Amino acid sequence: STSPPTNEHYLVIGGCGFLGRHIVDALLGRGEPNVAVFDIVQRHFDENVTFYTGDITKLEDVSDAIVKSGAQVVIHTASPPHGRGPAVYEAVNVTGTANVIEACRAAGVPKLVYTSSAGVVYSGKEDLINADERLPYPAVPMDAYNDTKARAEELVLQANSSTLLTCALRPSGIFGPGDRQAISGFHSVIKNGQTKFQIGSNQNLFDWTYVGNVAHAHLLAADKLADTYPIAGLHEPLPWVNLSLP
Ligand code: NAD
Repeated sequence: STSPPTNEHYLVIGGCGFLGRHIVDALLGRGEPNVAVFDIVQRHFDENVTFYTGDITKLEDVSDAIVKSGAQVVIHTASPPHGRGPAVYEAVNVTGTANVIEACRAAGVPKLVYTSSAGVVYSGKEDLINADERLPYPAVPMDAYNDTKARAEELVLQANSSTLLTCALRPSGIFGPGDRQAISGFHSVIKNGQTKFQIGSNQNLFDWTYVGNVAHAHLLAADKLADTYPIAGLHEPLPWVNLSLP
């Protein structure tokens, strides 16, 4: 269900991406009058949105957008696409996220929501079943993407304070309109006739969430951060959560 507008000033970093754009649309859809986007490229145009073009690896670019937009809620979804080298992940995910945190602190932004990934707890070696927030990051990360997403998530959660409330969400696979990687990847595999191989027993399961629901979760997180609801920063699992690990 749609919650009423908070009338706060929102800045969606990576707001021209697949998920980012759905977050922008969800904010506009509930009548938010102050929605801005920061992205390295502008891929869509909307007269109800203010666009700032820049690179999160440059502190001055992020600071400029945060100050000019008057952001009270920063939703940070930016990350490089799959298949980039470790240096790009390090720069955008770790340095870029550190820049976002620093710029939020300097400008007195009260709330920061970070899009992490379910992959931050996946080592690539064993199945995760009923995994929850109690799982530690793997001792040996699966790859540079998941390693840098985990370190960025940690930075965001550690930055939580009484003046900057922070939280991180860990979506698994995301599907829906505007997807630029998953379904198009499956489609090209079919088109190229690369479907004659089977890896494993064909019993693998993977979680997918509809992009509109992931966007909704970001709005709920931003709304609840100001509340007494205990979602901000690093904390022990919520007392009423009773999930059993295998
Ligand atoms: P996307 O590539 O569609 O969107 C990312 C956006 O970030 C793009 O618009 C891109 O231009 C922007 N960006 C990249 N580098 C930037 C930089 N240096 N400065 C400014 N902007 C930059 O990706 P997505 O699928 O929408 O993913 C959004 C977030 O969700 C990412 O943080 C990703 O790690 C996370 N995530 C995605 C999935 C998925 O299945 N798509 C699953 C789990 C987590």
